[in-house]
Amino acid sequence: MIEAIGVIGGGQLGRMLTLVAKRMGYHVVVLDPQEHSPCGQVADEQIVAAYDDRAAIEELGRRSQIVTYEFENIDIGSVEHLERCGYRVTPSSAVLRATQDRLLEKSFVRECGIATTAFAAISSRGDIEAAAECTGFPAIVKTVHGGYDGKGQWRVDSVAGVHGAFEEARGAVLIAEREVEFSCELSVVASRGGDGSVVAFPVAENAHDRGILVRTIAPARIEPTLASQAQEMASAIGRRLGIVGTYCVELFLTHGGELLVNEIAPRPHNSGHFTIDTTPCSQYEQHVRAICGLPLSPPRMFCGAVMMNILGDGTGNHLMGTEALLGDPSIVLHVYGKRHAVARRKMGHFTMLVDAPIDDAILTRAAAAHAKLSWR
Ligand code: AMP
Repeated sequence: MIEAIGVIGGGQLGRMLTLVAKRMGYHVVVLDPQEHSPCGQVADEQIVAAYDDRAAIEELGRRSQIVTYEFENIDIGSVEHLERCGYRVTPSSAVLRATQDRLLEKSFVRECGIATTAFAAISSRGDIEAAAECTGFPAIVKTVHGGYDGKGQWRVDSVAGVHGAFEEARGAVLIAEREVEFSCELSVVASRGGDGSVVAFPVAENAHDRGILVRTIAPARIEPTLASQAQEMASAIGRRLGIVGTYCVELFLTHGGELLVNEIAPRPHNSGHFTIDTTPCSQYEQHVRAICGLPLSPPRMFCGAVMMNILGDGTGNHLMGTEALLGDPSIVLHVYGKRHAVARRKMGHFTMLVDAPIDDAILTRAAAAHAKLSWR
């Protein structure tokens, strides 16, 4: 019987997960190195420790009946350690291993019979020529481990550029990818239960700025057949991974109408925030249900949504303009409780609820609403 949930990682995803878990009556313990983390502020307890502090991780295991994580760049050794000690961790270390490493991840997607962009590994200078041959230019070079929100990535258009990225990465193993000319970026947030059942939310359409998600439109403005295809791909990936919990599959839609999988996140995702305000059972509740052995809920959207991320800009820590923003009754505001609004840090988001098909006029309204916000 699960009464307490342990969460590794105290960011906004953990916070939104915890808010749901609390509503459902669970006790939540979070582990994060920062005191008063966004998740720690709403959890019952926070263990302040590094992700690789084995004694603290064991303490998290002792204080909960199930441990999960809100962020995949955690120490895999800690998750394996918890499993060896007999604590339950979901998703498992095997899932984490397959999704933490961009090379393993893309190879796994190919093994599922699903397309990705052309890619090649670069672990030494000697691999660069062959990798460039495989991808052509322009290419995107990424660190295999640890990159997120556009960090650890270089766009290159020559072999010399790849050498430059290799020097900058200081010996880290790299993946080179052919740059995809996409008509849009999509994601599918899905959840798989311990009984093997999978539910997928409507496909989301995402806009990024220098690698950071800035806007999500849901449902995506694509043909229904393509949307079903994307959902089927995500479901197949979840089944083959054997994941238990909420996860996200990010894809490119090429100009030729082909879907290419870019990434798998084994956790709730920024592009699934819209599910909080537009569905009866959000991505976070599906995650709680999955890891606690409760039935999943078939996704159903009450209305469409435009989700806009609110990023810090380094000019101040107080969010101004919320009064003007909330003058629009279709807007729901979420603020994460981070003290320092460092440039490009995710500080909050808002969801604009939309009853009509999402067109340019609605996107202009969302952008104008976003422009009312500033930092002081
Ligand atoms: P990632 O960390 O792989 O999610 O990449 C962050 C963002 O960079 C993506 O959402 C895309 O906007 C862009 N990007 C990454 N890889 C590629 C690629 N192979 N081709 C085109 N754009 C890419």
